[in-house]
Amino acid sequence: MYCPFCSDSETKVIDSRLVAEGNQVRRRRECQSCGERFTTFETADLVLPRVIKNNGNRQPFDEDKLRNGLTRALQKRPVSVEVIESTLNRIKHQLRATGEREIGTRAVGELVMEALHELDEVAYVRFASVYRSFQDVNEFREEIDKMGSAKKRTEQENAKQNKDAELKTD
Ligand SMILES: [Zn+2]
Repeated sequence: MYCPFCSDSETKVIDSRLVAEGNQVRRRRECQSCGERFTTFETADLVLPRVIKNNGNRQPFDEDKLRNGLTRALQKRPVSVEVIESTLNRIKHQLRATGEREIGTRAVGELVMEALHELDEVAYVRFASVYRSFQDVNEFREEIDKMGSAKKRTEQENAKQNKDAELKTD
């Protein structure tokens, strides 16, 4: 491929390795003309279902859009680019596994939310607030409260267990 810096056609692969659980090849290249180095990623181009938007329009599945959505939700969160890539690949795998030729944006959104829920709570809420297009602020608050009360419950249970343990030792 052409060098993105000087457009020369002579670039050499200096390193090549599997990433994203083997679904992707990462290649380090060096331009033979200007000496700049850059990275390319290679993935198998398998058919993904077309996406049905809320207004009924059909679009080809847009990987970049999904990657941007994930990256935006995970901004300033302790999650690496590699993890984002493997999450993206997992979602794509799930989409292919449906065997559907068309799938609603909402279903895609649910898969992303599921993945983020496991990955990072903050990112999950960020994404959910945009993607689920909450009817009103109250609905969004309920979602946060639900997560908060689940955490509180665990804390209370732990506190109770500690107390019980103290009583036993007395
Ligand atoms: Zn160059």
